[in-house]
Amino acid sequence: MGRLAIIFGPPGSGKGTQSRLVSDSLDFCHLSTGDMLREASNIGSDLGLKARELMDSGNLVPDDMVNGIVAAHIHGLDGKKDVLLDGYPRTMEQAYALDRSLMGTQYNVNVVLSLTVRDSVLKERILNRKVCTSCGSIFGVPVSVLEPCGNCGGKLVVRGDDNLEALSDRLQVYRERTLPILNFYSDRGLVVVIDAERPVPEIFSSISKELSKFY
Ligand SMILES: [Zn+2]
Repeated sequence: MGRLAIIFGPPGSGKGTQSRLVSDSLDFCHLSTGDMLREASNIGSDLGLKARELMDSGNLVPDDMVNGIVAAHIHGLDGKKDVLLDGYPRTMEQAYALDRSLMGTQYNVNVVLSLTVRDSVLKERILNRKVCTSCGSIFGVPVSVLEPCGNCGGKLVVRGDDNLEALSDRLQVYRERTLPILNFYSDRGLVVVIDAERPVPEIFSSISKELSKFY
């Protein structure tokens, strides 16, 4: 029987980094809604092409399509792999759908990891974030804009969309959207708050400890 964890975290919380560590070091299957939708559209399935069309026109992919894609991935794993859900569930409808799709599988929601960072810290992090114009690598605070990319030697620039107003909007959307879902899982005693203001290895160590409780 595989473990199943859900990870939540606001933009700039390092959720992407932690998800990669959980998948690389602990051998979890990292199911990210964004990746799954892109993959479906690359394969060219009807569902995937429809999803691509919606995303390209700036629309949200409807719950039933996302639910279908996630359920298919989870069923395909057949309980043999541990699963980390990232970007799902995003709405209460999706949370109910997840419960329904887990029925009759080898999975339960074991734990919901909620990465928390104060807004002031997120703002500082995001404003200092630089991206390589050649390879797309992202760098945090200690890197000067004048330095070349540590990966490829390319030029680093401050990301244009990382301005404060856009960040405030994204944080507000994140909070409003996530709060009901976190409450839903809190009522079942599944939410673990992870202090994500600490260095990456410390955060990962806390996450590993939580996941190890469900062997
Ligand atoms: Zn680069």
